[in-house]
Amino acid sequence: MTRIVYVNGAYKRYAEAAIHAEDRGFQFADAVYEVVEVRGGHLVDATRHLARLARSLGELSIPTPMSGRALLNIVGEVIRRNRTRNGLVYIQVTRGAGPRNFSFPGPEIFPTLVVLARAQRSGWADELAERGIDVKTMPDNRWGRSDIKTVMLLPAVLAKDAAHSVGAHEAWFVDGSGAITEGASSNAWIVTEEGALVTRPLDFRILPGVTRATVNDVAAAEGLKIEERAFTLTEALSAREAFVTSATNTVMPVVRIDGRQIGDGRPGPIARRLRSRFHRLAEISMV
Ligand code: PMP
Repeated sequence: MTRIVYVNGAYKRYAEAAIHAEDRGFQFADAVYEVVEVRGGHLVDATRHLARLARSLGELSIPTPMSGRALLNIVGEVIRRNRTRNGLVYIQVTRGAGPRNFSFPGPEIFPTLVVLARAQRSGWADELAERGIDVKTMPDNRWGRSDIKTVMLLPAVLAKDAAHSVGAHEAWFVDGSGAITEGASSNAWIVTEEGALVTRPLDFRILPGVTRATVNDVAAAEGLKIEERAFTLTEALSAREAFVTSATNTVMPVVRIDGRQIGDGRPGPIARRLRSRFHRLAEISMV
């Protein structure tokens, strides 16, 4: 089936879709994005994703290209035209195209908007979650505003590649004090001996994950104790369980960190429970 992508007002076949050579997203990574899970043709946690997109744009003074409602209409159309049942929607907004100058362009430049959908075989993440994943740690060498979801992803690309080269699925970044910040494309969690969930509080060093927020809701509904505090690699290595959260993986158990087994080396009961309850509490919307 021909895939269709939305670019600046038009739905195009991939072969015909184009971005300006002087787009600031391409030249400066002057752009933000969102990835939203599509499940059974519906959007998961759309309100939280749109709110974070608005925040990212605001932090970088990129004008909002359109209302959330209008954006959702486009997202729905892209999902329909691609007949995406399960997978993801990717939304990117750049500051726009203009002569290559570092300083912001004037008001005559309009943001670039790209919306695409990609199908994923349903059950793929469930199969992975049955086994759990390995993570590899590395120094957090990203800029100081990882709370903004920019497309400036080279540190994450390199970290993931280094992780993959040793058979790990995800990288965990470690800050200068030995604390885990987050995954290359996920938030990091551990479960203590007492059964409390620990995840780093929101600050400039981590992305405010939408899945993180919904997992907080799920954990509260399950009566689990949540401690928002930094945790070190040493603490993670002796944790009862570990897991990561992200829109495309929801809750993914971590069974080894740097080759060292966590708990009994199998996905833990709390991570499994949060995963199985996740979509009951997440916002599911028709588009
Ligand atoms: N941290 C980083 C660095 C990420 O790239 C992602 C995935 N976008 C997350 C956390 C998880 O965020 P979300 O739950 O909103 O997908």
